[in-house]
Amino acid sequence: MADFDIVVIGGGIVGLSTAMQLSRRFPGIAIAVLEKEPVLASHQTGRNSGVIHAGVYYEPGSMKAQFCRQGSAATMRFCQEYDIPFEQRGKLLVAAGADELPRMEKLYERALANGLEVRRVCQEELTEREPHVTGRGALFVPQSAIVDYGKITRRMGTILTDADGTIMTNAEVRGICEQHNGVEIVLNDGILLRARHVVACAGVNADRLARLCGLAADLAIIPFRGEYFRLGANRSRIVEHLIYPIPDPSLPFLGVHLTPMIGGFVTVGPNAVLAFSRNGYHFGDVNSTDLWEMARFRGFRRMIINNMRSGLTEIANSLSRRRYLALCQRYCPELNLSDLHPHPAGIRAQAVSREGRLLHDFLIERTARTIHVLNAPSPAATSALPIGRYIADIASAHFNYP
Ligand SMILES: Cc1cc2nc3c(=O)[nH]c(=O)nc-3n(C[C@H](O)[C@H](O)[C@H](O)COP(=O)(O)OP(=O)(O)OC[C@H]3O[C@@H](n4cnc5c(N)ncnc54)[C@H](O)[C@@H]3O)c2cc1C
Repeated sequence: MADFDIVVIGGGIVGLSTAMQLSRRFPGIAIAVLEKEPVLASHQTGRNSGVIHAGVYYEPGSMKAQFCRQGSAATMRFCQEYDIPFEQRGKLLVAAGADELPRMEKLYERALANGLEVRRVCQEELTEREPHVTGRGALFVPQSAIVDYGKITRRMGTILTDADGTIMTNAEVRGICEQHNGVEIVLNDGILLRARHVVACAGVNADRLARLCGLAADLAIIPFRGEYFRLGANRSRIVEHLIYPIPDPSLPFLGVHLTPMIGGFVTVGPNAVLAFSRNGYHFGDVNSTDLWEMARFRGFRRMIINNMRSGLTEIANSLSRRRYLALCQRYCPELNLSDLHPHPAGIRAQAVSREGRLLHDFLIERTARTIHVLNAPSPAATSALPIGRYIADIASAHFNYP
């Protein structure tokens, strides 16, 4: 006899969206979310830029492109329905120098291919819209918005518990054993739970849980810290839109941007620095197990060789506030060192292949009784509702619930 029909591991936005939608899809079944921290949304979901992305950057036809576009609309509908504040500010992707204009043009084509509303903005209009921002030109994407993803996640949690779902915090999954008639789950305190099915949405630990079920043999999650600063209160109206640089298309990171946040302040960031601990929120954090696991993984070593230059630049920018500031001054020259105040960092859970490739798209795989979200970096917060629906579709097709 199982304790639960479906256990969802991970109390981030992907886990909660999935659990909420499974409970709606299969009313009456027993669903539990297991979260190792004392509160929901403690990791990526609660430590990000809070942007509802429109879906400019992603390869047309990819899961990211589809889910981000659907997710942007679905997230705003969810916020309206449950009275969660969001602000549709629009995004300006600024080409700081003439050398970035061709890449900006490629992004324009990509945004169109992804079916988005996008417009080129000349230098004069850019200054008119954002007097503190300079550039040779920009793309304007009106759909982009800001929200607090922690708030959305907690609301999804109450929707789940109102529908008789269970949320267990301080419940770290240490072991999963898939059997022909169910799945055994071992928790940190030695408690053994039984479920008919498991969905793992464990962010930075996704690969470890997947390996226990025979998946993820050829990838590993590599943690990349995204460090932020918060601008002082005197700068809280410095920009009205979200101001982004033109990113390097070979990397899944968007570059240091200026983001007005729900709460009335502006953040600068994030960069993307290799972390030596899966919870390495500070520069000196090192976890010997995490580091040893990374070093043994061939893909990690190849990734380092392939990206040596950009990796070292990120470390240098992280160590020197002046260098970090220079990244923002390219498009917002009046910012100075005294404007930068500490703000919590986030850790991206980024899947890397055995060949050393950073996987761009979302990746979801399954066994007979388990489903694993293996790669859900940005824009997975924006895309959490369609990701949850997709997982509920897989469960409908394979898990045999009425
Ligand atoms: C710096 C940064 C900026 C970002 N900006 C944006 C943005 O503006 N817009 C956007 O759409 N996306 C953004 N993202 C991406 C987005 O935050 C993530 O894609 C999304 O939050 C992933 O959600 P998740 O639920 O998969 O992961 P998480 O939020 O990390 O949740 C996973 C949960 O699983 C739990 N867990 C792990 N292992 C276990 C275990 N063994 N047992 C029990 N629980 C476990 C963890 O404690 C955690 O709470 C950003 C990410 C970062 C790091």
